[in-house]
Amino acid sequence: PATAGSDPAGVATHCAYCGLQCAMTLTGSSAADLAVAPRRFPTNRGGLCQKGWTSAELLRTPARLTTPLLRRDGELAPASWDEALDVVADAIVRTQAAYGRDAVAVFGGGGLTNEKAYQLGKFARVALRTSQVDYNGRWCMSSAAAAGIRCFGLDRGLPFPVTDIGSAHAVLLLGANPAETMPPFLTHLVRAADAGGLMVADPRLTPTAAKALDGGGLHLQLRPGTDAALALGMLHVAVTEGYADRRFIAERTTGFDDLWPVAAQWLPERVERVTGVAVTTLRTAVATLARARDTERGAYVLSARGSEQHASGTDTVTAFIALALALGLPGNSGTGFGTITGQGNGQGGREHGQKADQLPGYRRIDDPAARAHVAAVWGVDPADLPGPGRSAFELLDALGTESGPRVLLVHGSNPVVSAPDARRVSDRLAALDLLVVSDFVLSETAAVADVVLPVLQWAEEEGTMTNLEGRVLRRRRALAAPAGCRSELRIWNELASRLGCSTGFPTEPRLVFDELRRASAGGPADYSAVTWERLDAGESLHWPCSPQRPQGTPRLFLDRFATPDGRARFVPVDHVGPAEPDDTAYPLVATTGRVLQHYQSGAQTRLVEELSAAAGEMFVQVHPDTASAAGLDEGALADVVSRRGRTRATVRVDEDLRPDVVFLPFHWGDDGRANSLTHAALDPTSRMPEFKACAVRLEAAQ
Ligand code: SF4
Repeated sequence: PATAGSDPAGVATHCAYCGLQCAMTLTGSSAADLAVAPRRFPTNRGGLCQKGWTSAELLRTPARLTTPLLRRDGELAPASWDEALDVVADAIVRTQAAYGRDAVAVFGGGGLTNEKAYQLGKFARVALRTSQVDYNGRWCMSSAAAAGIRCFGLDRGLPFPVTDIGSAHAVLLLGANPAETMPPFLTHLVRAADAGGLMVADPRLTPTAAKALDGGGLHLQLRPGTDAALALGMLHVAVTEGYADRRFIAERTTGFDDLWPVAAQWLPERVERVTGVAVTTLRTAVATLARARDTERGAYVLSARGSEQHASGTDTVTAFIALALALGLPGNSGTGFGTITGQGNGQGGREHGQKADQLPGYRRIDDPAARAHVAAVWGVDPADLPGPGRSAFELLDALGTESGPRVLLVHGSNPVVSAPDARRVSDRLAALDLLVVSDFVLSETAAVADVVLPVLQWAEEEGTMTNLEGRVLRRRRALAAPAGCRSELRIWNELASRLGCSTGFPTEPRLVFDELRRASAGGPADYSAVTWERLDAGESLHWPCSPQRPQGTPRLFLDRFATPDGRARFVPVDHVGPAEPDDTAYPLVATTGRVLQHYQSGAQTRLVEELSAAAGEMFVQVHPDTASAAGLDEGALADVVSRRGRTRATVRVDEDLRPDVVFLPFHWGDDGRANSLTHAALDPTSRMPEFKACAVRLEAAQ
């Protein structure tokens, strides 16, 4: 059906927000009366969280942008589409003529549909011929992705259906808090929780950790940034206490002997000193996983942002994969290692070419065969395709510098709030000759742009998304978009023609998807046999899905891993700790995260009345002893101060927090911007910044 109103049964689609992509049905004839109802689907089993239930509010928000805006005399003022696009195209032409192709950059987002993620990369490389393209997913799952490629030869968040976790009696969550980030995911943890086998490694007693304790499970309350030490300590216990699967290690892996000399140093007592996790807890966690494995009751290790968003995130996830390999969990039915994707299209968004080092199909941009294949689909000379560009933070940090981009196009991202060391990023954005932001509301980044282009949102257009288990889903149009808004696909089409680019940039999502399928054919993330018709018929298709594997691949690695020799790799890594240790001037470790009501930078969810009423202010969680030492009581206004800036927040005293840690959500801008504190020490492999640990002090607000 074209709209919800034309079909009384409504339009079957998926949620506007996170990577679980819960299934829902939209009914109603207009934005004003559109209603959301959950729909049964394996991932959400008929559930939605508060964000999903209220997602129709986004479609009727009075804050909706419906006309392009141009900055005139310092103020954003309405303009026609032709005026706005002419300004952008003229700036691109002038800037590239004066400073070269790379003087124009594009910044994408992990919430864009597969078609947009694909077209954005193609637009950058073919119409702009710039190497300067990356996206906010670099700050989301890139460390887990890099570790997955390093150890398994392939990155797919969950290499098994999410429902497999539902039968497990032991699940170790590493820096994951699904009770707030994706509550319907908890239905897959019920059995583990009831069996006393839910284990949560997190510096905070989150609702997820509390659920684990309620069921007799474990909370491994580690100090932020010590995750790798925890992993190596658990590996040590697995090997020295007889839990390792020696046959699996011998037959399906390589490199154990390279890693073991490092892990052998991580005696449980040392791990306890470094991480704060008691030796008995460490031992029980490993024994619980091994027992569930041995009794065929299912054992999984799942990482998420808490363990990944570090300057050593790739090595940290590598160490946890080593633990899982030592226990023989990956590559078998009923056990495994996976990563819980965060952003709505966190998985698909990183497969189709909006990453600085990547072409569609999850191909490497420096691979000559990949360049030749994709260039043929695009009808260009492979020699004309740019090489790898700067990673997300490095790209933003170079803006307006002598050798950096001078024009930036932002799509589906709000880096003023979400970038690390955000004040520095704001300064760089201000140094641009032209900042162009496509969004459907005036986010903090749009508010400082020179040109704002109002785009369609989730239920106003057709498309596909790829969820956290690599399953391709159909997002469907339920409503006509407000007059004045356009899809990004049309924006790139119109800009390409203004730039004189003869390559086609289709505006129909279905045509773009067909091209994406051809571009991905033969690559690691092969979508070539996933057709629009099959998706519309309700088929469950997990990539790779090709003529050789027409039914898709729900479970990866069962016969072999995706490495040249088919074996998973142990890689020697060690614990290095946070890039900015606490000291006498900044004696606390700040860690950042999410709350139930908000998604990412909050630019969307802060506009939903019910959500902002329930969670409307920036806060800092502090242990009572720490609050009292700073002269702060519950509800007081505090300044959290790091070497880079300060953030104002209301104190919430929490006796379950470690006294050396404060927690801040990152959903607010302005004075309450958590990322004014964080820093941009980057992981050497993934280029992930260290969002989860920086040194701060607390002061009473003046
Ligand atoms: Fe489901 Fe995530 Fe949407 Fe909540 S935000 S309803 S968990 S997809």
